[in-house]
Amino acid sequence: MAESLNTSVIILGGSIVGLCNALFLAQRGVPCILIERHAGSSPHPRAMGWTHRTMELFRTVDGLEAELNAIPSRAGGKPRRVATKTLNDKWDDESHWTNSKPALGIAQDKLEPILRAKAIVLGADLRLGYNMTDWSLNDDDDSVSLTATNSTTGGQVYNSGTVLTGDDDNGKMALAKTPAESRGQPGFRAPHIWLKRGDEDVSSLDLFCGGWVVLSKDPSWKERLGEVEHVECVIVGHGVEEADQGAFEVAFGVDNTGAVLIRPNGYVGARWKDSTALGDVKQVHKLIRHTSS
Ligand SMILES: Cc1cc2nc3c(=O)[nH]c(=O)nc-3n(C[C@H](O)[C@H](O)[C@H](O)COP(=O)(O)OP(=O)(O)OC[C@H]3O[C@@H](n4cnc5c(N)ncnc54)[C@H](O)[C@@H]3O)c2cc1C
Repeated sequence: MAESLNTSVIILGGSIVGLCNALFLAQRGVPCILIERHAGSSPHPRAMGWTHRTMELFRTVDGLEAELNAIPSRAGGKPRRVATKTLNDKWDDESHWTNSKPALGIAQDKLEPILRAKAIVLGADLRLGYNMTDWSLNDDDDSVSLTATNSTTGGQVYNSGTVLTGDDDNGKMALAKTPAESRGQPGFRAPHIWLKRGDEDVSSLDLFCGGWVVLSKDPSWKERLGEVEHVECVIVGHGVEEADQGAFEVAFGVDNTGAVLIRPNGYVGARWKDSTALGDVKQVHKLIRHTSS
């Protein structure tokens, strides 16, 4: 049944600008509802650096600056200016990016979840997976009404011949009824979970930037699949560990023997809910070759 809500401010779009609006309004006690059609942040890194002025604004939110500074900068360090004749030359005359003060070097897809969590703590009502379909100015000329529907797909579906359903979905790509259901489903963005690589905190999304990846917790996937051209097999528990036990199964919709094939663009290409598929390893090879060719 349709839910009718009243609030002071409706924010449409839950990316960096919408999230900052929700954060700063909530910080000042202004009731707001944020509508975002996707279930999470875009996995594409997009903006990589945030100026000193942005940091000044973030500093006004209790605890946010400390939380952001605790995140290691990406390889290459904080955004800065360098002088060089060519990219091959020595880089010298390094200076801060803006205002003679250090900027923050965190990719947008890593910053947004932190802002989301903070905004929620401060009281913002974030509605992810809701698509605004209509809006109108009310008769009072001073307020708007907006209609948003809970997306039946729960996220952005990537439709392509190179997305397969795996053997668990009976050859059909079923639409998810809630954003959570779409996690790990072929055709959807691969979900984020926190992992540990030694002492370093990494996102599952960091594993998917370089090429095709089969991800599983069960080492028999690596043993049975052997070398597959262009495809790396990553076993959670061998080199990378879950920060929260069981997060892999929940996020990817598999059991602890299942596996997913992730495309280089961060979308799930195929999924096997358990290791039964390895009984016919030739068929798995065929699916992977088809998906990754
Ligand atoms: C490849 C790439 C690289 C980039 N690199 C940099 C960089 O290095 N540095 C830099 O400063 N900037 C960079 N940018 C730009 C930066 O990402 C954008 O400026 C920033 O994301 C804009 O934020 P926004 O919140 O205004 O809009 P968007 O990020 O576009 O967010 C709009 C949001 O609204 C949602 N939405 C739209 N319609 C609806 C609807 N009907 N219902 C519900 N939700 C809806 C969308 O899903 C989206 O999440 C890059 C962008 C791209 C694409």
